[in-house]
Amino acid sequence: MYAAPVQRLVTELSKLPGVGGRTAQRLAFHILRTAPDDALALADAIRDVKEKIGLCEVCFNLAEGARCTICADARRDTSVICVVEEPGDVIPVERTGEYHGRYHVLGGALSPIDGVEPEDLKIAGLYARVQSGGVEEVVLATNPTTTGEATALHIAAGLHERAPDVRVTRLASGLPVGADLEYADEVTLGKALAGRRAV
Ligand SMILES: [Zn+2]
Repeated sequence: MYAAPVQRLVTELSKLPGVGGRTAQRLAFHILRTAPDDALALADAIRDVKEKIGLCEVCFNLAEGARCTICADARRDTSVICVVEEPGDVIPVERTGEYHGRYHVLGGALSPIDGVEPEDLKIAGLYARVQSGGVEEVVLATNPTTTGEATALHIAAGLHERAPDVRVTRLASGLPVGADLEYADEVTLGKALAGRRAV
């Protein structure tokens, strides 16, 4: 239907989450109409993040270089680790202004049905961090979904076994059940953080 390069662009755009075939077409035609410099700025930005951004060697958050800005910040409290599913979940917790500790990004949630087992997530790395000492509390801030809850329970059990002196807490209820952390507003999330309970 389209010239091959146009079809290629439509195909690539339609792989983006939430972008169906019609939206992909609309975006492709928008890009075709755009001035070359503006269109290529998008291509360059994509290339740039793929070349420069990796995962933090400590917490697996997104990082430019070996460590993320939070792990590199000496003012952050190293005695508390907040465990989240995805790098995108760090942002809403940061926005609350209530949290001053470090993070640990799992890279997903346990979901046996989708073949996601404990060894597919950065759980061993979390245990190693906690066992290396200096950690007093681990806040489990996985999503309030079935898989997020299962992940929190699994990690809580693993931590109790390996580091019985470390306090393990879970965000207080009040977050919309089934929703992702990244959609929670900062007031609700801030309250959930402040009211966290031992698990
Ligand atoms: Zn980090």
